[in-house]
Parts: sequence; C-alpha cells; structure tokens
Amino acid sequence: MQVMLVEDNEMLAAAVVKALRTAGFSVNHISRGDQALAALKTSKPDILVLDLGLPGMDGLEVLRGARRQQFSNPVLILTARDKTQDKVAGLDSGADDYLAKPFEMDELLARLRALERRLGSVKSKNIVIDEVDLDTHSYEVSVAGEPLGLSRREYMLLKALMESAGKVQTRDILDSKLYGWGEEVSSNTVEVHIHNLRKKLPAGFIQTVRGLGYVVKKGGGAA
Ligand code: CA
Repeated sequence: MQVMLVEDNEMLAAAVVKALRTAGFSVNHISRGDQALAALKTSKPDILVLDLGLPGMDGLEVLRGARRQQFSNPVLILTARDKTQDKVAGLDSGADDYLAKPFEMDELLARLRALERRLGSVKSKNIVIDEVDLDTHSYEVSVAGEPLGLSRREYMLLKALMESAGKVQTRDILDSKLYGWGEEVSSNTVEVHIHNLRKKLPAGFIQTVRGLGYVVKKGGGAA
C-alpha cells in the first residue's frame, strides 16, 4: 500500500513516516503543496494523507487539483484546523476522512486501514495483462496459470509496472517503490530485480525504454 504524505512539519512528518513504514505501508513524503500536486500527475498513491496549511499551495487547493486530475483514491486530511467549517470544506473538496492534530498514531493507522479496506473493495483484486495474472490480495503472480515464485521486491516492481501498463516507469519511480519498504537501495538494485523478473516472465513482457525506464504493455510480449 503506497501512501503519499504531504506535511510541512518535519518532526511530525518524520514520526508519521516511521510509524507507517513500521506498519508496512510504503511512504513518499512531500513538504510543499505545489510539489505534491505536481507529483500526483505522475504517481498515483493508494492513499493521500494531506495537511491543509502548506507552503506553495494550500492543502484544499491540492485536493481540488488532484480530483480534477482524476486522482480518485482515498484522501485523508490531517490538520490542526479542527473547526467544523474546515472539516466541511475538506469533505466537500473530495476528502474521504479527516483527522485533527494532535492525534494518536494508532488512530491514524486505524483510519488508513479503514481507507485501505474501502479501496480494496472498489479496486479489482487482480491485474491481468496477457498471460500474466497478479493477485494484489494474495501477492501471487502466475503466468498462464503457473505460479511464479517472486521475492517481495520483485513483486513490488512488477505490480508497479502492471498497474501503470502502457506508461513508462522511470528508474526513480521504481526506486521509490523499493525505498518505501525502508530498505537500502543500491544504484543498480532496480536493474538487478528487473533482470531476475525477466527470467521468470514471458519474453518481452517488460520492455526497456532507452534512457527512461521500463514499460509493460498489453500484447507487448515477443509472443
Ligand atoms: Ca502545516
């Protein structure tokens, strides 16, 4: 589960990032509103956790902009403004939930799990491209019905590529999926995992886009 946290209080952000990673979420932290909206053009986190008072662009503007950009995943607003009017404005702008600061980390985690369940119930459980079937609930991947034994990191990379089929995923994007697990990523980690994935997948399933990154396309395999 990928979470984008937009929060300009660095101490609070560090605490939230740590708690979410410990709970198994993958977290990308951004401090400025304008940068968050720009990032949402290229990446689609499963859940957006958004502060309202932000440098660059107000959180409510980020939220409206994200919804205009067709970002449809759950948004949880996290803010010191606990007045009713701010809550109403947030929900009217497309937020799914609201948590007033200060909050207990356990409550944030519980709310994220609730949003995750809601997301899971609307999202299709399987991503199927050609013969490759990725089950996002059981974390199993099969090719023409034959299960593949993938490591957790191979699974994360393949899921990222299949979720964005037809769109090139840059090395940086793929790196961030691995970083999200709180692990050290060396400069060639993505290449190593892609190399290993290719040995297990149909020929040509993961294509290299020179100087950019990798892409998976429907019907793109060498066949
Ligand atoms: Ca703030």
